[in-house]
Amino acid sequence: VSIENARLYREAITDGLTQLYDHNYIAKRLADELEKARRCKRPLSLLMMDIDHFKQFNDMYGHQLGDVVLKAVAGIIMSSARRGIDVPARYGGEEFALIVPQFWSESPTVQKDHRQDTLAIAERIREHVAARKIAQGDKEIGITISIGVAFFDGFSDGLSSHDVIEQADKALYRAKMEGRNRVCIYAADTQEKSN
Ligand code: GH3
Ligand code: MG
Ligand code: MG
Repeated sequence: VSIENARLYREAITDGLTQLYDHNYIAKRLADELEKARRCKRPLSLLMMDIDHFKQFNDMYGHQLGDVVLKAVAGIIMSSARRGIDVPARYGGEEFALIVPQFWSESPTVQKDHRQDTLAIAERIREHVAARKIAQGDKEIGITISIGVAFFDGFSDGLSSHDVIEQADKALYRAKMEGRNRVCIYAADTQEKSN
């Protein structure tokens, strides 16, 4: 019974198409991870990712090939993430999220290390998506993804999971505005000017 219950629970929090965690789960998990990060004074990041010009892709090649793209991107995110540490999810239609906790904090350069780790993961995802070719008959179609990054330093009070999502979303919006297929980091001052 407990094995069956575990299976049912896993199914309930999983997105059927991509096998990543679903929207509800990631929202709750982000709140938990943020709480944990604050207690342990460890940094944490959130990546928000959105496939570029995906409507156009669907219109040109059909919804079914669009679903192939979603699965391919999910696979890339899963394999670029650190197994058992980072938390990957399908956030919405063609939007994905990745929680990147800092699991080791002994180093005095933990903030810098965390930023570097996070940006390396983001860049790895972006590059792998851009390199992936989707086969359609004898044609090969390229795809790209834009990524917004929000950092939590492990100390700042009053920053909610809602705020972190909003910051990552703003950075993602800027990545789109600056030409797509890129990683942008949320920065309060520059972001406010562009609003
Ligand atoms: P941008 O680069 O600005 O993100 O442009 P976009 O076309 O990707 O953005 P937009 O939000 O206009 O379109 C998102 C598209 O994603 C529209 C919808 O057809 C497609 N989509 C959402 N969910 C699914 C899905 O489950 N399967 C497929 N095939 N397409 C989906
Ligand atoms: Mg979108
Ligand atoms: Mg899109």
